[in-house]
Amino acid sequence: MDSLNIEMPLVSQCAVHECTYNLNNNCHAKAITIGDGSHPGCDTFFSLDEHCKEQNRQAGVGACKVNDCIHNEDFECMARDINVGFSGNDINCLTFKAS
Ligand code: SF4
Ligand code: SF4
Repeated sequence: MDSLNIEMPLVSQCAVHECTYNLNNNCHAKAITIGDGSHPGCDTFFSLDEHCKEQNRQAGVGACKVNDCIHNEDFECMARDINVGFSGNDINCLTFKAS
């Protein structure tokens, strides 16, 4: 497989244990996508009976479509890292801050 070496913000913590990519409060997807418009939901969330086998990889933020967050530039996240978790019933980027 070809590989990319790109900088992206890390998902430092995720509290959504129901997600297939979540083990021990961490996201182990390669990269996640956040939101659209003004809603900073985790678009990569999905739930199965089983969880991913990868336990060492830490996810990055591959893309973010929430362009009214102060950390968003040109539809990319420029924060150092983000936290994901519940905001009410929604699964959100908790680092979101409205601009
Ligand atoms: S950041 Fe999103 S994809 Fe990753 S474990 Fe949390 S809810 Fe799942
Ligand atoms: S901090 Fe802002 S720009 Fe970064 S992923 Fe969260 S909502 Fe998107």
